[in-house]
Amino acid sequence: MLRCTKCNRVYEEDLRIQCECEGTLLVERKYSSFAPQRRYFDMRRYLPYLPVNERFLPYLHPPVTPVSKVKNVIFKLEYLHPTGSFKDRGTYVTVAKLKELKIKEIVIDSSGNAAISMAVYSAFSNIRTHIFVSSNTRKEKLSLLSSFGAELHIVEGDRMKVHEEAVKYSRENNIPYLSHWLNPYFLEGTKTVAYEIYEQVGVPEYVVVPTGSGTLFIGIWKGFKELFEMGEISRLPKMIAVQAKGFESLCKRSNSEANVLADGIAIPNPPRKEEMFRIIKESNGSCISIGERVTRQALTELYRMGFIVEPTSAVAYAALKFFEDEGKSFVVPLTGSGLKLHSSF
Ligand SMILES: [Zn+2]
Repeated sequence: MLRCTKCNRVYEEDLRIQCECEGTLLVERKYSSFAPQRRYFDMRRYLPYLPVNERFLPYLHPPVTPVSKVKNVIFKLEYLHPTGSFKDRGTYVTVAKLKELKIKEIVIDSSGNAAISMAVYSAFSNIRTHIFVSSNTRKEKLSLLSSFGAELHIVEGDRMKVHEEAVKYSRENNIPYLSHWLNPYFLEGTKTVAYEIYEQVGVPEYVVVPTGSGTLFIGIWKGFKELFEMGEISRLPKMIAVQAKGFESLCKRSNSEANVLADGIAIPNPPRKEEMFRIIKESNGSCISIGERVTRQALTELYRMGFIVEPTSAVAYAALKFFEDEGKSFVVPLTGSGLKLHSSF
């Protein structure tokens, strides 16, 4: 079932993305034990914990991503997914759900990676996708998007304006609007990052996550919580949300500078903000805000280590310098590929 994070009301698992009270929704299911399907090295490994039927899975299965340890930091290489970001996990579950519900046309809005992922997965799943993006979106990403055959709607204005236009189009044309910020099935995909981390390296002390809309931050926490509730693990990691200066929703808002380099998390008022606050508190975690200069430095370091990621991924690595690292273990997901920023054909 779907449960409202605000008023606790429950709904059946249909395509609803918000409660009638406008609260955000999470999928809630009870699992008795953790038994991955070990013959698979992709998301089917965790099928018993996904709210989808195997019959409807897209043919392209996001793989178990590798981890790479550098000193006391374990990088989780999420940028190695088929479309170059962790968003494929959320898209995979969402598309399976759409196929199950026989929905053939949707409206989404995104600043880049989520749109690219949905454009690819919906194309080969015969789902017509209207994608609303801002005219400010990086031109390399627009160029990629236009090659997938999705219906691209380019909106003059900021991210909030894009959102408004998408909602309007959805209402006027009676096509479901499926914002990944709100879509509860998206988090069911991203929670598998936690399952993989657990299988690969156990429970780290800290998970340090670039955080804008919170689709990865909340998903990872949900995955660890489920493992905890199944009795599989006996402690939980501390969750560190890393944000971009000038766009903070959880840390104190910086007025002095805006980190526009980390465009993937430049979301000043995400709808799942209250959930993220609760996770920081419950996990004994914190929030760290990173400026543009430091992001650039961290990105250069990551490139030189061999990780070709996008600037948004570098903020989490940059945040590590705020910790005294003696004996502590960190997992840092590297969320999106840097190669997309160089691609055109
Ligand atoms: Zn509610």
